[in-house]
Amino acid sequence: MEFFRKENEEPSPEFVLSKDDITGDDDGLMKVKMSCGHATDPGVLSGWCRSLLDQGHLKFHCPANVDGNKCGEEWSYQEVRRNASLSETEQRNFEEKLAMFAAKFYHNFKECPNCKSFVERRDLKNLRVVCILCHSLKGETFEFCWQCLKPWKGTGAPSERCDNEGCKNQSLEVLANCKLKDLPGSEIKSCPSIRACPTCGRLIEHMEKCKYVNCPQCHVEFCFACLETARNCQASKSGAWFKFCAKSLAPRQAEIPVWSQK
Ligand SMILES: [Zn+2]
Ligand SMILES: [Zn+2]
Ligand SMILES: [Zn+2]
Ligand SMILES: [Zn+2]
Ligand SMILES: [Zn+2]
Repeated sequence: MEFFRKENEEPSPEFVLSKDDITGDDDGLMKVKMSCGHATDPGVLSGWCRSLLDQGHLKFHCPANVDGNKCGEEWSYQEVRRNASLSETEQRNFEEKLAMFAAKFYHNFKECPNCKSFVERRDLKNLRVVCILCHSLKGETFEFCWQCLKPWKGTGAPSERCDNEGCKNQSLEVLANCKLKDLPGSEIKSCPSIRACPTCGRLIEHMEKCKYVNCPQCHVEFCFACLETARNCQASKSGAWFKFCAKSLAPRQAEIPVWSQK
C-alpha cells in the first residue's frame, strides 16, 4: 500500500523565473510560485514565516507589495512547508510553535455572548467567567457560563457547576454518541468516527483514506486509532497507514485533552 502514502498526494512546488516579490531582488534565479501568484526564494519564504511565528501569528500571509499595499493573501501551513522546502527539524519547530499557539488560544479564549469580544479564562476549572470588556464598555457586570455560553446562573466563585438547564459539554456529548466505523481498506474496525485532537482538543471527523489525520486547528497530524501523534505512531510501527498500530485502539474519549507543554 506504499502508493497511498500521503506525501504523494501533495503537489510539488512550481518554480518560475521571476523577481523575488518579498525582497524585490531580481537575481535571475528561479523562484517558487505561491498560491496568490507571487514568487519568492524558498529561504526568504521560510525566514518570513518564521518571523511571523516568532511574533505570535497563527496564520501566514503574503507580504508582497501590490501598489503600495500588502498582498495579504493567506497561505496554509501545508503550502509554506512544501514551498519553503523546510527541513525535518524546521518542520518540527514550526509545528510545535503552531500547535502551542493554537492550543493555548482555543483553550483559553471564548467569545463573550453579550459583547462578542474574546474573553480569556485564566482558571481552566472555573465555569463562571466575567467579561472585562462588557464592564469597561457598557459599565455593566456580565458573567457567563464557559460551557453553555448562557448568562451565569448559579452560586459560588470559582464554580465548576452551572445551574442553567441543559448545560452540558457539547463536545463530550458528541464524542459519547458518535458512530463507530471501520476505517476504509484498513485492519482497524469499530473506531470512533469523531475524535478530539489529542493536542488541542478540536473535534475532527474521520474523512481520510488512512488512519492519520491532520488537525486543521493546530496542524499536528495524529493517529485516529491510537491517538498518538502520527510521528510517534509511525516510529513504533512504520508503514502501517492501514494496519493496526503498535498501541491498541483507543476507546471513545471521555474528556477533551488540554494542551500541556512537555
Ligand atoms: Zn501574494
Ligand atoms: Zn462581554
Ligand atoms: Zn452552563
Ligand atoms: Zn489539534
Ligand atoms: Zn496509531
